[in-house]
Amino acid sequence: MKKFMLVITIFSSLLLFTACQNSENESGDSSKKEITMMLTGNQEEQDAYEQVIKEFEKENDVKVKVIPTDGSQYKTKLQAAISGGNVPDVFWFEQVDFLTYVNNGVLLEMDDYLSDEAKNDIDGIWPMAVKNFQFDGTDVGAGTHYGLPKDAAPFALGYNKTMFEENGIELPDKSHSFTQEEFVTIAKKLTKDTNGDGELDQWGTGLDVRWSLPSFVWGNGGDWLNEDATKVTIDTPEFISALQEFVNLQIKYEVTPSVSQGQTLDTYQRWMKGELAFFPVGPWDMGTYQKLDFEYDLIPWPTGQSGDWATYFQSTGIGVSANTKSPEDAVELVKYLSTSVKGQDALVEASVQIPNNVEKAKEWASDTSSRPINKQIFLDILDTNGRSLPMTRTYTSEWYDEFFTNIQPVLDGKKTAEEYVKEAQPKMQKLLDKSISDQ
Ligand code: CA
Repeated sequence: MKKFMLVITIFSSLLLFTACQNSENESGDSSKKEITMMLTGNQEEQDAYEQVIKEFEKENDVKVKVIPTDGSQYKTKLQAAISGGNVPDVFWFEQVDFLTYVNNGVLLEMDDYLSDEAKNDIDGIWPMAVKNFQFDGTDVGAGTHYGLPKDAAPFALGYNKTMFEENGIELPDKSHSFTQEEFVTIAKKLTKDTNGDGELDQWGTGLDVRWSLPSFVWGNGGDWLNEDATKVTIDTPEFISALQEFVNLQIKYEVTPSVSQGQTLDTYQRWMKGELAFFPVGPWDMGTYQKLDFEYDLIPWPTGQSGDWATYFQSTGIGVSANTKSPEDAVELVKYLSTSVKGQDALVEASVQIPNNVEKAKEWASDTSSRPINKQIFLDILDTNGRSLPMTRTYTSEWYDEFFTNIQPVLDGKKTAEEYVKEAQPKMQKLLDKSISDQ
């Protein structure tokens, strides 16, 4: 996940193994129970969580030993803890691993520990996010809670307002989607050699295929899977033209940094330096983006042939180990982080996420005094325009990963989108069939 890649290590992850083994008590205060919690995130996020957890400790007679882990190593460390039988009492997990953790008995069924009041609080948070962590024995989306959403994180499109103004480009209407053509036209106007040395130093955009292609495909009426998630549908005309259009931003319209320019400095860094007109923005970026020296705001993603726009949202889950010795305290902490007003306020204050509570989120979005002004776009995604990434709909994600494994020749223009999907579809279908039979 992009947000997991932006992490700065603050503690050696080696801590995890000893910490889990010695979780009984190290605080010196023998009267206090202790639970362990493993998390990751960028610095702003980790600092915010530390504060909220301190607050939780004050309100509850329990000590929480936090195990912060570098984002790039988080999953490996968690898997190792699971195989070693040293699962932290409370931990974050990716949506894509939910079914596996449920099936392997890693996650505690939380319902027995949730009071009516707690269930009421859960009813107030984004339904699409809550459903991601419910399982009824057959399908995800209803039934027992095996976790609660840490967040509901929509993947919006941002634009550099200052660059638009300096180049005399009319500012986008906040609720209006550009068509692909309009998007390309503006991107072309803003791709420039600004200092006349013969090399471009400002571009329309620079999008990562893994995270941005879904918007192009869905906006065009295509998808990776059919409705019941049994067939890989990347060989449809809607999908093919969306992929080609995405690739054309680089190879035909040339509105993105070239491959070698991308190697000098990645597009995330270039956006932060004010070199890109359009770039995706997630809520986890808001803290870091307070420091940008240009104004930015959010807009809908461009539409394709479907006439509508779409993007993904994702939720990180917070779960409790099925083997915890303190299920009450552990569930209480999960509940506090996911639903409590106080906990949520502190996290929102730190600009690392939007409120999990729907009413709170509406209030938050109506405040136009802080960047981004058009926060409503985040809410629109959680309400209507957002979808879960395709691999969260299946038991395993290898079939989806396969799509991106050999895509480079297409991005380089050495293969057309049509040639590529014909090669990739059978391989992906085989992996999907295996996933279905494994389940
Ligand atoms: Ca230049």
